[in-house]
Amino acid sequence: MTDKKIKFIFVTGGVLSGLGKGIAAASMGNILKARGYKIYMQKLDQYINYDAGTLNPGEHGEVFVTDDGAETDLDLGHYERFIDENLTQDSSVMTGRVYSDLIAKERRGDFLGKTVQVVPHLTNEVVSIIMRGAEKANADIAVVEVGGTVGDMEGFYYLEAIRMMKNELGPNRIMYCHTVFLPYLKSSKEVKTKPAQFSIRDLQGIGIAPDIIFCRSDHAVNKSALDKIARASSLPPTHVIPLETADTVYEVPLTLENYDLGKIIEQKFDLEEKEPDLAEWRELVGKIKSDKREINIGIVAKYTTMEDTYICVFESLRAAGWHHNVDVNIKWIDAEDLASPNANVAEIMFGCDGYVIPGGFGIRGIEGKISAAQYARENEIPFLGLCLGMQVAVIEFARNVLGLAKANSEEFNAKTEHPVIHIMEYQRTIANKGGTMRLGAYPAVLKKGTRSYDAYRQTKISERHRHRFEFNNKYRRDFEKAGMVLAGISPNNELVEIVEIVDHPWYVGVQFHPEFKSRPNRPHPLFRDFIGAVIRSSTLLTVNEAKEDRQKAIV
Ligand code: GLN
Repeated sequence: MTDKKIKFIFVTGGVLSGLGKGIAAASMGNILKARGYKIYMQKLDQYINYDAGTLNPGEHGEVFVTDDGAETDLDLGHYERFIDENLTQDSSVMTGRVYSDLIAKERRGDFLGKTVQVVPHLTNEVVSIIMRGAEKANADIAVVEVGGTVGDMEGFYYLEAIRMMKNELGPNRIMYCHTVFLPYLKSSKEVKTKPAQFSIRDLQGIGIAPDIIFCRSDHAVNKSALDKIARASSLPPTHVIPLETADTVYEVPLTLENYDLGKIIEQKFDLEEKEPDLAEWRELVGKIKSDKREINIGIVAKYTTMEDTYICVFESLRAAGWHHNVDVNIKWIDAEDLASPNANVAEIMFGCDGYVIPGGFGIRGIEGKISAAQYARENEIPFLGLCLGMQVAVIEFARNVLGLAKANSEEFNAKTEHPVIHIMEYQRTIANKGGTMRLGAYPAVLKKGTRSYDAYRQTKISERHRHRFEFNNKYRRDFEKAGMVLAGISPNNELVEIVEIVDHPWYVGVQFHPEFKSRPNRPHPLFRDFIGAVIRSSTLLTVNEAKEDRQKAIV
């Protein structure tokens, strides 16, 4: 226990899900960190899952991985990008884990003779999880997002827990921010506030009076709508902040700052008012919004409908683009299209300046991904393979360069003649699927003179992992002889972490997920250099040429 009087900001949501509460929460973290406060962030999720590891990324979005190996909701990725801190297991809380901890205590005999109830036992458990996380991080201010929507059956105990905390810690250590949605009615050409008002009433009905309301809308929110919401929530109009859908999510902290939210928070918490240092962030947003030339990056995947599935990959590509002053257009390439027997691979792959094969599991679309890797290799187009993408590059090289036509991963054919990718030895006996992969940060040592070394400019690196299969060491020499360099190896020399093709503009496959460590203003070195190679090898116009071109078009 620390003596520090940590302040807590709780972010709830109303009306509908998918409002971008995570971005609002992360943006608050951002402007508070810019004032010098130590920020901690946490997400409370309602699912009865123990963690996000077994969720389908095609439906729920990417599974984010922390350094300490937690498989979490993708909002943690937003938090890390906005507050530039590495979070841990403590930051991701799901109902399954809360119950599991509580039941373990009951079995131990902590509640002997008593019935164990939602209130107070489950709610106390939540309070202690929230307090513990913030204390361990030595935070000044913790921003805690409550998943789901107020009124959901499942989330009630979280709301009860955060309500109780105000009683326990006192009003000047707790702040509630409620995010609502204002739908637009075309016929009357206005945004409507009634659902938001009901949601605020729901929240008040369970004893939580919000201090701030964020009004999300796809349309301009006029003053009279904001006034109505202020009245419904008994707040001064300054505490009702419109958040119209922004051109870039990275602009949200600046919007909050424009509405003086930083100051409002400091006043609420009796903190001395500080000037935020947002210079670097403003520069980033300026860069993002400026005119740039565009490059097309093909993402070869089996889920091709939702950006959230590979959100960190996209954010890493974009950030690398901003670094080089280009805009990255994402082009989805459906791996299954490439795999169909009469697919014209060149036609499907056409039009991209570089290709990425992201992580994945299962056999669907694999043959298509192998064709994509072959296309990028043979046509000398920059290529970045992430985890499964690296494994695919290895299989392709084995089949088409080493002549091992039946080469495969044991994941897709357990009895393959040439298991160039095979299951890690210690994984063979693991039966449970949840939380049992090789997870989290592990070191690797880079070979000098490789693309990877050029990118990192250091020999020792640490990256986040999430896999069961690995490069089969039996084939190391064959690959190296044929021109695939093992550019990164685990320090004990047991596990191949990076493969590269020497005779190619830029062809790198990594067994880890660099996308989890990229930040908007500090793109990951591999993504940075991948985009750099794309720019070098593409025949696109320069920024100035593109500008002239646009001006000509306007005239
Ligand atoms: N399915 C592969 C493995 O388990 C790759 C995993 C991934 O891409 N994250 O090794």
